[in-house]
Amino acid sequence: MKCGYCGYEFPEEEGIKGCGKCGMPGRCHMVRCPRCFYENPPELKVFKKLKKVLEKKL
Ligand SMILES: [Zn+2]
Repeated sequence: MKCGYCGYEFPEEEGIKGCGKCGMPGRCHMVRCPRCFYENPPELKVFKKLKKVLEKKL
């Protein structure tokens, strides 16, 4: 994935996940850039997964 702030490209596994400090309920899905620590929104496939989970709850 590509960092939306500095443009640094890195594999999602290398990003810093689950900060636990942003106050979001449950697990944080943001992926932090290993270079500038900007919080990037997760990639589209994660969004799809999240949508599925939300649909189940409705
Ligand atoms: Zn960055």
